[in-house]
Amino acid sequence: MIASLPFHTEDGEHNHIDVKRTSTKVTILGAGPAGLVLGLLLQKEGIDCIIVERQSRDYVESRARAGFIEHHIVKFMRKNGFSDGLDNKGVPHTICEFRHNGHSYEIPYGEVASGSHWVYPQQFVVQDFIQLFISRGGQILFSHPAVELKGLESSRPVVTCSSPISTNTLLEIECDYIAGCDGFHGISRSSIPQNKAKIFSKQYGIGWLAILAEVPSTMERIVYALHESGFAGQMPRTSEITRFYLECPPNDTASNWSDDRVWEELNKRLSIEGDENLVRGPLIEKRVLNMRSVVMEPMQFGKLFLAGDAAHIITPVGAKGMNLAIADSDALAKAIIHYYHNRDETLLNQYSTMRLPHIWKTQEFSDWMIRLIHNTVDSNENKYLAFSDRLRQARLERLQKNGSYATLFAEDYVGYFKP
Ligand SMILES: Cc1cc2nc3c(=O)[nH]c(=O)nc-3n(C[C@H](O)[C@H](O)[C@H](O)COP(=O)(O)OP(=O)(O)OC[C@H]3O[C@@H](n4cnc5c(N)ncnc54)[C@H](O)[C@@H]3O)c2cc1C
Repeated sequence: MIASLPFHTEDGEHNHIDVKRTSTKVTILGAGPAGLVLGLLLQKEGIDCIIVERQSRDYVESRARAGFIEHHIVKFMRKNGFSDGLDNKGVPHTICEFRHNGHSYEIPYGEVASGSHWVYPQQFVVQDFIQLFISRGGQILFSHPAVELKGLESSRPVVTCSSPISTNTLLEIECDYIAGCDGFHGISRSSIPQNKAKIFSKQYGIGWLAILAEVPSTMERIVYALHESGFAGQMPRTSEITRFYLECPPNDTASNWSDDRVWEELNKRLSIEGDENLVRGPLIEKRVLNMRSVVMEPMQFGKLFLAGDAAHIITPVGAKGMNLAIADSDALAKAIIHYYHNRDETLLNQYSTMRLPHIWKTQEFSDWMIRLIHNTVDSNENKYLAFSDRLRQARLERLQKNGSYATLFAEDYVGYFKP
């Protein structure tokens, strides 16, 4: 249905906005991991939904971010038939390594926690999910940013999207529920009145230069190097691409980091005795990430439910963000499916309280990891602290002894989500 609404431009000219209207049961904002998983799960149960995405398909399918998928998320993907790509191209990991003052500490967390991680880049996950959703008849409106959410406390809320065709055309989608899976910079979180939710946040005063290099990984495991010049990390991604991280001030800019400076600093911080220099290759991405964490409580207002980065962000230290996003969507899908099968909103009303303990437990682990791998967290001047460096060494030694300390780490690292 199309309606034409008159409006006045700034110079007083009469103009018209065409409003197209449609309806569905669930409108999902965002075609990231959270939105796509929710869409796929609802689709499996025959529940009508539309995904609206601000960016183009090309853009979302090439956005390289996460790469580390938890043991139980892999199981969840397999159980639901979403894992073909991961099973063909993903690589399991069971050991990680810390390096500190010339020593290497190998942690066989997979053996201790009876679980593994899979390395499978987020852009591949997103490509697979989009392909699957569309091939099963699902509708994703790319390049349709949601610009307004109306009637969140009514029985039929409305999502207004702008259209890629014309600035004078809007699309209104009326629905039963809105799933805000539109990431940290979307509109869902800010559509919740300030007095209806509380935001908890923490700035760590640390930055990471996130680097993608076109080189095969020289180490087949994640390496965390705790160096007096700051943290450095190496995370395998594919046979051609490796992700590296370098600690830097949070207000630093990528332009301060020439390719030569990046490789010199990586070699200095990552190497231990006997190591060859890293193989150099083109750096295809350099960006500074500010280490911060945010959680919104509750993750719901009226008919709007938040999932993934829209509700909480976590530092990339423990590689948990995408995993939490998928776990949220699993819980939200179960609650929505329960409603449509039983006309009972009990699970929807419990969604926030069910998800928050897992989210906070994961935040606690990330906070612990941040303190382990950075030596500047407790210093106002970002100074290297000799005392806390000794504490780091003690922690690493405890991790190597296969006692309860190591078990706790391994279980947290592998993840506790149970599908
Ligand atoms: C460098 C880096 C490395 C990371 N490494 C890891 C890792 O190893 N493991 C891990 O688990 N996590 C990691 N993360 C975190 C992970 O990438 C995120 O937590 C994950 O993308 C969250 O998924 P999401 O679907 O909630 O949000 P997003 O992936 O951000 O998706 C949200 C979508 O909503 C769209 N959108 C925004 N606004 C609107 C609007 N108004 N209307 C419609 N659509 C909108 C966006 O375009 C986007 O496509 C990393 C992040 C970064 C930056």
